[in-house]
Amino acid sequence: MSEIRDVVIIGSGPAGLTAAIYAARASLSPLVIEGEPSSTSDQPGGQLMLTTDVENFPGFPEGIMGPELMSNFRSQAQRFGAKFITEKVTAVNFENRPFEISVGNDKYLTRSVIISTGAQSLMLNIPNESRLIGHGLSTCATCDGFFFRDQEIAVVGGGDSAIEEAIFLTRFASKVYLIHRRDELRASKIMQERAFQNPKLEFLWNNEVAQINGDQKLDGITLNNTITSEKLDLKIQGLFIAIGHRPNTDLFKGHLELKDNGYLVTLPDSSRTAIDGVFACGDVQDDYYRQAITAAGSGCMAAIDAERWLEEHGH
Ligand code: NAP
Repeated sequence: MSEIRDVVIIGSGPAGLTAAIYAARASLSPLVIEGEPSSTSDQPGGQLMLTTDVENFPGFPEGIMGPELMSNFRSQAQRFGAKFITEKVTAVNFENRPFEISVGNDKYLTRSVIISTGAQSLMLNIPNESRLIGHGLSTCATCDGFFFRDQEIAVVGGGDSAIEEAIFLTRFASKVYLIHRRDELRASKIMQERAFQNPKLEFLWNNEVAQINGDQKLDGITLNNTITSEKLDLKIQGLFIAIGHRPNTDLFKGHLELKDNGYLVTLPDSSRTAIDGVFACGDVQDDYYRQAITAAGSGCMAAIDAERWLEEHGH
């Protein structure tokens, strides 16, 4: 409790671990509170732990598995002296300085904090979902669309994300079903018009995914018509869930400013929050790009911002 650290990093996806590499190499001896392995929302390593092949992270021309990539990030941070606690932060106190970060009954004092708790894709919460994620089931069209060249796939959701992903996926797939639980889209009119004109898109209205089928790999889904309760088996090779995201910001409610959609507010072109010495990076403050590489880039920004801030304040 008595030791005052220069920087504590909360969260250990690409943003937090990149911040840890930079902070460690700047001799700030960062402590990373990396999350709880049993959790599916804030597990150490973040969302890439739920991914198989990652082909768009520069530097890996043959691609790399998501968990392996994150293990590499972590080893690199450790190599320069970052320390890890494999638990979940339970409370923060930014009212007094040094700041106080609680992990259960343990408290850590620190001059600066980098928040990189990420976000999670909302899921359908039906059987087989967690087992088949990365095996035909995906939450990121930008990441995984390429794997479904000339295949038949489906997207669930009726908002801008679902429509944008479905249109994007028609570049690869031979056919994309859009499954929506109502008969009217939530997406903006312009996106709707674009979708309706796309010959590769077929809308399955008033349907919800009742079952995800497949043993090692997803090979189909069973739909339930929300009006007639009729069941329909759809043979597809891929399913993209695009029903929204939720940033992991519960801890910071009442402490930091949140946008209407729950994401942390950072100052423009910076990782600074409204509290001096508290920085945020990665998906917890990015509701737009949501990529591992952009998260890593913003983690680098946060470490540099923290380092300069500490220096300005004589530490
Ligand atoms: P969203 O607007 O909240 O839409 C979520 C969609 O998923 C809704 O259609 C909802 O159905 C459906 N849904 C939610 N839970 C479901 C469940 N359990 N089972 C089946 N369907 C379910 O989320 P979003 O599309 O991710 O967009 C989030 C925000 O980002 C929006 O403000 C959006 O405009 C913005 N965005 C903008 C762009 C763009 O402008 N290019 C792109 C992406 C996102 P209901 O309609 O029945 O509620």
